Amino acid sequence: METRLPLIAGNWKMHKTGDEAVQAAKHLKELTAKAVGVEIMIAPTFTALSQVAAVLAGSNIALGAQNLHWENQGAFTGEISAAMLVNAGCRYAIVGHSERRQYFGETDQTVQRKIRAAVAAGLRPVMCIGETEAERESGQTFSVLDKQIQKGLESFVLQDLKTLVVAYEPVWAIGTGKTATKEQAQEAHAYIRRQLAGIVDDGFARLVRILYGGSVKPSNIKELMAMPDVDGALVGGASLDPETFSQLAHYRG
Ligand code: PEP
Repeated sequence: METRLPLIAGNWKMHKTGDEAVQAAKHLKELTAKAVGVEIMIAPTFTALSQVAAVLAGSNIALGAQNLHWENQGAFTGEISAAMLVNAGCRYAIVGHSERRQYFGETDQTVQRKIRAAVAAGLRPVMCIGETEAERESGQTFSVLDKQIQKGLESFVLQDLKTLVVAYEPVWAIGTGKTATKEQAQEAHAYIRRQLAGIVDDGFARLVRILYGGSVKPSNIKELMAMPDVDGALVGGASLDPETFSQLAHYRG
């Protein structure tokens, strides 16, 4: 029977120059060389991708991008295409991170286009969804998640979504030190899985990995990962230090 291999992913955001990223990746590679039963991914800045890809060659750490454009090429100043990311060594691409939605105008429609472009190029999309604090407090958590899933995955068929990873990232927990409780995370993940069963099918929903993101750290990862629908973590701040991130990758102890 196929199972969901846990994925521990680090989003380095706009941190680390190429040289700093290389140092961190080398250190992480040493620290996680013996990690088993887990997949590890790091997403450095665009300018560090090729250098980090060279460091990670032959390791058990996959390379990811933090964003992509939906067109293959063209007059889109400042943008990067899926094909360029594949060529730089990427396996994954984060799509629709809440910081992109909040500061760079990403919408569920652009998320949908980016997922399509990623899949077409052979990149595995990590689709980020999650509610704001105000939405949670006004009881809209599930309707927000539902809209983000429905619109972000609109018009896809199962074949397109085989490599999809979903990251549930409550916006109020990102970079704030506030973590969702394990019960809140499980409730949201179970809801997301049910919605995915509805729009794709049960088999897909059973296999799709749903990561939790929002102030994950060594002190809380174990209890989050013990939840039946939590299949990994998308980690910002705690991924920057290789020692700390390696503790997350070794969450089983
Ligand atoms: C993130 O940026 O996806 C994230 C979860 O950040 P942090 O771990 O710092 O909350």
